[in-house]
Amino acid sequence: MRIGFLSDIHANLEACEVALSVLRQERVDRIYCLGDLVGYGADPGRCVDLVLGECDGAVAGNHDWASVGKTDILYFNLFGRKAILWTAKVLAPHHKSQLSSLPLFISDIEWCAVHSTPEEPSQWNYIFTPAQALRQFQHFAERICFVGHSHSPAIFDDIGDMKSIVVPRDESSVVVRLRPDRRYIVNVGSVGQPRDGDPRGAVAVFDTEQNTVKFIRFEYPIAEAQRKIIEAGLPEFLADRLERGV
Ligand code: ZN
Repeated sequence: MRIGFLSDIHANLEACEVALSVLRQERVDRIYCLGDLVGYGADPGRCVDLVLGECDGAVAGNHDWASVGKTDILYFNLFGRKAILWTAKVLAPHHKSQLSSLPLFISDIEWCAVHSTPEEPSQWNYIFTPAQALRQFQHFAERICFVGHSHSPAIFDDIGDMKSIVVPRDESSVVVRLRPDRRYIVNVGSVGQPRDGDPRGAVAVFDTEQNTVKFIRFEYPIAEAQRKIIEAGLPEFLADRLERGV
């Protein structure tokens, strides 16, 4: 089976549309979303429709919950707070109830999915380092845990190794072969607001038979997403950062 994962769409419709078509071209059997459908970008409602319409399951991210009043917005930075207040204002009631009912954790036989950490899914902690990853392995039973939240693709194993996934600019993907005797935490990167210096959107495909994860980067119409952010009156920084991937 081929399973597509996308995360951190952040109301970027232009990136979201390309992400889903890339996964369809990859002939995935199922698609799951790792959270943060909204926040920062100008198309929250349309992204909720598109993602929840196409995905087989989705977990809640901090921006999803913050936009519907389920998590405190005090710890967000100024730009994040402004975007959440704007998002809360423009989201339709039915979109809010959809976001509000997203689970924090999804589990399948071989893998599980959570936005932040399996240890405390609603505390929104980050996994950046091998040490932060290591302590998480005791908090899930499956072989692989797929996460989002940091917006930087990476793969961590259960003996303390970590690999940031860099896809060369003239390539569109990198395939990592998993070892059958290891467990993994896989960060698939961000569709709508990459922060690893590469402005291309990111998705990943887990092939259960090949035992591989394919990390994919794709171009999308960044200028259009930026124009909408400015037009909506959202902070200009949120538009600028898209072309830099920071
Ligand atoms: Zn995010």
